[in-house]
Amino acid sequence: MSLIKTDAVVLKVNDYSESTRLVTFLTPDHGRLRALAKGVRRIRSRDRGTLEPFSRVHVTLYLKDPAGLGTLRESALLSTCPVLRRDYHRWVLASLVFESLDRATLPATDLHTLFDLICAYLDEINTTPQPVETTLAVLAALLEWHGFRPDFARCGLCGGGEPFVGFRVDKCSVVCERCAGGPHFIPLPPGSLKAFEHLASAGIRGLGALRLSAPQLDQICSLLVALLQYHLEITLTTARMLHV
Ligand SMILES: [Zn+2]
Repeated sequence: MSLIKTDAVVLKVNDYSESTRLVTFLTPDHGRLRALAKGVRRIRSRDRGTLEPFSRVHVTLYLKDPAGLGTLRESALLSTCPVLRRDYHRWVLASLVFESLDRATLPATDLHTLFDLICAYLDEINTTPQPVETTLAVLAALLEWHGFRPDFARCGLCGGGEPFVGFRVDKCSVVCERCAGGPHFIPLPPGSLKAFEHLASAGIRGLGALRLSAPQLDQICSLLVALLQYHLEITLTTARMLHV
């Protein structure tokens, strides 16, 4: 059995029994960890308010096996994301990011880069005037972190150049007019492809004053959800709640 002390982001909290909650954490050194927090459902438990999704915490927990279920000993709140409690639209956007993380990260892995990215995202989503653009940029970064970098330079089927008329989800690439079609083809206007390229390359803190139109945001969001679901082999139920 090992004792772990680590900073963490709370990804998910489920009721486990009358007085116990099952908390899923994202940690920089130990990947995605799950731990039982005993007694926190009782009123006046001092951990109660700290163990909510989107909170950053410092936790101490016992873990028998790196991929197993730990037992939470202590948690201290480092910061919360207050805007997500009162802004439903931002809450849904952040939930989509957190569902992607929960479905696609593993225990006992080094997640430093991803952890820093998510902490930066929580800071941004709390204040940015561009919550949708910021969320799409972080989803693109998450896809790239998993090894799937969208290719905007040449057609993913024939290798040809512009003009491109859409995206092939299975190839993670733009495609030319001749290669359009097929089961994984999503048609997109050139402006939306350029906007997606900018979001994917700028990162969440390089967006500047970028503001995309509602149709562009919708198209890019649908495409990113399709890419994450196909390549990471996950289902994102939050996507159904989202009308960007
Ligand atoms: Zn082609």
